Amino acid sequence: MKSGKAVVKMMPPKAEVPSLAPEIRAILAKLGEDPDRDGLQRTPERVDQALKFLTSGYHSDIQKLLNGALYEVKYDEMVVVKDIEFFSLCEHHLLPFFGKVHVAYLPNKRVIGLSKLPRLVDLYARRLQIQERMTQELAHTIQEMIDPVGVGVICEARHFCMMMRGVEKQHSGATTSAMLGAFRDRKETRDEFLALVNRKLNGL
Ligand SMILES: [Zn+2]
Repeated sequence: MKSGKAVVKMMPPKAEVPSLAPEIRAILAKLGEDPDRDGLQRTPERVDQALKFLTSGYHSDIQKLLNGALYEVKYDEMVVVKDIEFFSLCEHHLLPFFGKVHVAYLPNKRVIGLSKLPRLVDLYARRLQIQERMTQELAHTIQEMIDPVGVGVICEARHFCMMMRGVEKQHSGATTSAMLGAFRDRKETRDEFLALVNRKLNGL
């Protein structure tokens, strides 16, 4: 993990979202802990803040995020942004899954500012998710925003719910993909994408 990316910016909680601290405190007590002992006194507030940050994607506005960063171009070669780091929470266990997303598209007169793609990934990662849906949502959002000739999204992730619970450790890494338009219909386009991100996918 690159050290420069480990900074977690805490957003102020939305005024209308009530604090989860009382519920977290109750959970600590039910787990057999003493919520009043030194180390845990401020834990409910910290967990409240952390959960709100990790689910802040629900409150992000795609239009605001893009902020006019859609550009008209004559460029029609494949645009690829690979190794976009993400951190999400699985909706089945509320445990992290994390990894990398590779995004590619073939423009049809319009492109998205390159710096916006990682922010789009964050918008969908900072929700309760499953990897398959997040991959699809990214591809369909790009499709809707710039109507490209095709979009490909590959997501490689490791899941703490498998790694930490001692089940299926050998399958804790999963790869999902979503291929739309030319990426679905044209093998050469798909192969070019896979070669650019240096990945081999079974069945693609
Ligand atoms: Zn899970």
